[in-house]
Formats: sequence, C-alpha cells, structure tokens
Amino acid sequence: MVTDTHSGHRSDFFREVIADTPGGEQLVHCLQCGSCGGSCPNGADMQYTPRAIFAMINANRRAEVLSANTMWCCVSCYFCTTRCPQQIPITEIMYALKRRAIAEGYAKDTDAPALAKTFTGFVEDYGRSFEFGLASRYYFFNKPLSMFKLVPMGLSMLSRGRMHLRPNRIRQVDQLRAIINKAREIGGTP
Ligand code: SF4
Ligand code: SF4
Repeated sequence: MVTDTHSGHRSDFFREVIADTPGGEQLVHCLQCGSCGGSCPNGADMQYTPRAIFAMINANRRAEVLSANTMWCCVSCYFCTTRCPQQIPITEIMYALKRRAIAEGYAKDTDAPALAKTFTGFVEDYGRSFEFGLASRYYFFNKPLSMFKLVPMGLSMLSRGRMHLRPNRIRQVDQLRAIINKAREIGGTP
C-alpha cells in the first residue's frame, strides 16, 4: 500500500533521508504524482519507482528501500528532477540512498559499489575514466570467470578506436585530487 507522503506524520527514516540530502526537505511536498518514475529511462528495471520509494521511506520501510535496486538503476540523468512539479531533488536522494545502503550493509548483493569504487579510483589516479582498465580491473577482482565473455566486445571497441589500452593522465591531476579530498572532508566520507 502506498502511503501519502503529504500527510503530517514523518517516519524516522524519512527524516534521516532528508538530513542526508541537500535540499531534501522538499520531499515533504511530494504529491505522489508519479512524474518521476514516468520520466525515468530506467524505470522499467527498478523494483520500485522513485515515487513508490518515497512512499516507502515515509512508511519507515527501511530494509526494503535500502535493499532495493532502484538507486542502483539510477544513472543520474536528472530527467525526474527537472520534471518534478515540487522541485524535489530526486537524483540527490538516489545518491543519499546509495550512500546509506553501503554504510548500513544493504548493498552487498549488488555490483554497483565495487564498480563505483573502481571508477573513482581511476578518476583519482588519472583525472578521468579509463574504460579498458575499468572493465578489466572490476572483472578481475569481482567476476574473474566472466572476463572471457567480454573479449569479443572489447576487441570490437579496440578495432573501432572506441577504447584505449593505456590511460591518459590529465595535466595537474594533483589539483583534482585536492578538490576530491576537500569534497570528502566536507561530506564526511573516507
Ligand atoms: S515527480 Fe516529484 S511530486 Fe511527483 S511523485 Fe515524483 S517526487 Fe513526488
Ligand atoms: S536521475 Fe535517476 S531516477 Fe531520475 S530519471 Fe534519471 S535515472 Fe531515473
């Protein structure tokens, strides 16, 4: 059953999500209109649409929300955020749910945190993503038996010049690292 998030009562989990999200206090104005899920390119793959997730947060269904695949399907396109009639920072809430799912141990069954960690490692080392290294490092440490299935696709991308075998480091990568470290300091993340 979907709970009306526009009602007066707020669950503990609802308040935590608001506190985790810049501008999250707007969530109290959710109309449950469904525009967010309707505009999401990955909505069909989500166990629960953002609209349903917000109702579940209000109903204090913490474990179901944090173990759902919804936030891991989010590709940060911001379609939902731009279409929301109540200016609710939906994409930022998805980020907040990812962080909380990892922190509370609900993300163990998804590959996304490991993939995200591999991606950010390359950004810190080189200042940009490195597709070949991203795929090979991720699969080597997380799914070594699946590596061979990717060989045909990798060869095709290499032959078309869509992928490079060696990463290129941006100039003044130290400045980018300083920005990342400052953001971590502000965000309180290790
Ligand atoms: S579009 Fe905005 S108001 Fe409508 S359900 Fe989604 S979050 Fe709520
Ligand atoms: S930002 Fe995420 S939740 Fe919103 S429409 Fe894009 S993929 Fe869907």
